[in-house]
Amino acid sequence: MNGKTKKALLIILAVVLIGTLTVGSLFGKRIAAYFRTWTSGRNKTVMDYIRHPEKHKDWKLEALTRCGEAPFVLPTHGFIGYLYDDSFTPLKIHTGLDIFGGKGVGQTPVYAPYDGFLTRESDWKSSLILRIPEDPLNPGQQIWVYMTHLADQDGNSLIDKVYPAGTLDFPVQQGDLLGYQGNFSGNPGFPTGIHLHVSIVKDDGKGKYLNELRIENTLDPSPYFGFALNAGTTTKNVPGCSAGQ
Ligand SMILES: [Zn+2]
Repeated sequence: MNGKTKKALLIILAVVLIGTLTVGSLFGKRIAAYFRTWTSGRNKTVMDYIRHPEKHKDWKLEALTRCGEAPFVLPTHGFIGYLYDDSFTPLKIHTGLDIFGGKGVGQTPVYAPYDGFLTRESDWKSSLILRIPEDPLNPGQQIWVYMTHLADQDGNSLIDKVYPAGTLDFPVQQGDLLGYQGNFSGNPGFPTGIHLHVSIVKDDGKGKYLNELRIENTLDPSPYFGFALNAGTTTKNVPGCSAGQ
């Protein structure tokens, strides 16, 4: 090997090394989460449930279930398929819970998990956000609960008429009916599975919610619902409210 070839090889090695380190530091957590969701078997479990909900009735939890002393009640009935910090799309981290009702569009009610003030932005067809002025687990802090997929595949809203688009800071109580589970993906004609997505979102410190699509802007829902719902720390594929779960 002559000097030139050696130099070229060293440069290639350096580029590969720097590239690997950059990709690793930028996307390492996301790649690991995607790998973990696959190896945990969660994708298979969710597909099994979506195809045959009648075979897995024992995986479902009742709406309005309160686990122990937890502050929140479950906002809807169904199987909690995808958890917080799962990843089922490459390089995307799931920032909340996906609760699959196992019934048709518009058949599974969605309720307020806690007392708060509801906002539905003027262009929201399928989404709601609940402002909770006092985080029950961190007093003095405001948090938000974001819920989505409350529309059919074409974007026809399944949100209760009490909350039309443009609703701002409307008071609701824990257990109030908000709407129904749907399958709107945000892209008309390309439905997702029928479910409710719910995530707990941080406040920006000025009274506005942060972007709920970024994991660092959201909170682990486990302590709010009183059982293990963080894919990074639970090995259960069928979460439930009982000892050890
Ligand atoms: Zn989701």
